[in-house]
Amino acid sequence: MKAMLLREVVSLKQNEIPLSFTNTSEPQTSEGEVLLHVTRCGVCHTELDEIEGRTPPQLPVILGHQVVGTVEGVQSLEILDSAIKIGQRVGVAWIASACGHCEYCLSGQENLCPEFKATGRDINGGYAEYMKIRADFVYPIPDSISDSEAAPLLCAGAVGYRALKLCNLKDGHSLGLMGFGGSNHIVLKTAKYKYPDSEIFVFSRNPQEREFALSLGAAWAGAIDEVLPEGLDAIIDTTPVWGPISAALKRLKPGGRLVINAIRKEEVDKDVLLKLDYPSQLWMEKEIKSVANVTRADVREFLQLAAEANIKPDYQEFELENANKALLEMKQGKIRGAKVLTI
Ligand SMILES: [Zn+2]
Ligand SMILES: [Zn+2]
Repeated sequence: MKAMLLREVVSLKQNEIPLSFTNTSEPQTSEGEVLLHVTRCGVCHTELDEIEGRTPPQLPVILGHQVVGTVEGVQSLEILDSAIKIGQRVGVAWIASACGHCEYCLSGQENLCPEFKATGRDINGGYAEYMKIRADFVYPIPDSISDSEAAPLLCAGAVGYRALKLCNLKDGHSLGLMGFGGSNHIVLKTAKYKYPDSEIFVFSRNPQEREFALSLGAAWAGAIDEVLPEGLDAIIDTTPVWGPISAALKRLKPGGRLVINAIRKEEVDKDVLLKLDYPSQLWMEKEIKSVANVTRADVREFLQLAAEANIKPDYQEFELENANKALLEMKQGKIRGAKVLTI
């Protein structure tokens, strides 16, 4: 099968083509797994963290975890009895395993399972014609959502949905979005549906992203360091650096909450944290919360909501062979919506 392979951890600044196109054997499924014939795979910022070593993968590796495909084969009859059928169109999200018996798994929070925390990495394998996945970690895709539309909903969309839930917003509360890429542009569409009376404020260093945000119905869009007349009830940060966290804390209302939707942060500007000003940035019961991963319930709920509310991502397609180009554009901040590989 054709696949894009990462052989070593590199900085994209030094090597702009970290993945190589290759022909490799199809994955062999084990008990409880299904084989998917992949049609689309979304490109996620977490892939940059893997390529550049912030969440080091086991090498060599085929990256990719926002996968849409059809079920090609199943390993056991037990699965055939379940809801998953051969030929069915399903999606894969970032979460792909959990121990099933720890305190978190038993309370429906498998996203916090220690099995996942140990590495900070989860499923890979979507930048290829076939991938294997545990049968209990795939999700039927609603008919009204196309393959390309579904791919970005599975991580950028679903993790964004979890971040939005963690904001504890009520309709009418104000929401800030720091960064406006694959995830936050779907969050904006979701928030407008769930909280029609809330105003959404988008902070981005990129003028095109700000324009894009306004075209999708943001009440305001400006640079990261621009000051608003009023504080915000909640802010979701999806940027890879620290400056926006400092900026976000200044913009929260008393009791407001910052949700960091990032798996890793880069080290570049970490020293801004040393300059945090307690009275203006943390005092008054301000809260900071991070997103770990999604739960399966989040993914199911969000796909349902996306179908019901007609929430569709804006996306740009790249052929599998051009995955490096998609990744480089993401690294350079050339983002308008999501990026999807066609396979
Ligand atoms: Zn992802
Ligand atoms: Zn567990």
